[in-house]
Amino acid sequence: MSKLAEQPEIDVIGEIGLDYYWEKDPEVRARQRELFIRQIELANRLHKPFAVHSRDAMQDTYDIMSAHRGYGLLHCFSGTKEMAREFTKLGYYLAFGGALTFKNARHSIEAVQAVDEKWLLTETDCPYMAPEPVRGTRNEPSNIPYITQKMAEVRNVSLEHMAETVASNWERFLEMK
Ligand SMILES: [Zn+2]
Repeated sequence: MSKLAEQPEIDVIGEIGLDYYWEKDPEVRARQRELFIRQIELANRLHKPFAVHSRDAMQDTYDIMSAHRGYGLLHCFSGTKEMAREFTKLGYYLAFGGALTFKNARHSIEAVQAVDEKWLLTETDCPYMAPEPVRGTRNEPSNIPYITQKMAEVRNVSLEHMAETVASNWERFLEMK
């Protein structure tokens, strides 16, 4: 993996992180934590940003990312607004996908509202999580405006402003500025 990650075509290391939804065995979860730390260290060594997957493992993800700092984003962020604030305090970005447009998105909406706009990113998680109103279809980048629109609505700004903000956030993230 480190050989591959060194290639100049590789802009971001990921997804790395913890998945306790699919993995219940405590020993394997411990192994996930070990590898997560090593992958953060790899990204740091190569001076590349990383994208974190965290499912049913928010506290452990936070503990590791606060003890092993780097330049990263949380993909499909699903934590609370309090967690959102804690991650951004450490300089981590939060990426939101189609779930933000779903009916039960209260936590995601609160998280989007709770942090400075400079930490907000959009993503597809393609082919999964197509946003409303195309929920259930194969997701693709052309659906991103639905997510940006929702983000603009809940932050009470124009779609244009939100789109420009997210675009410049992505640029900054990829340049690690
Ligand atoms: Zn993921």
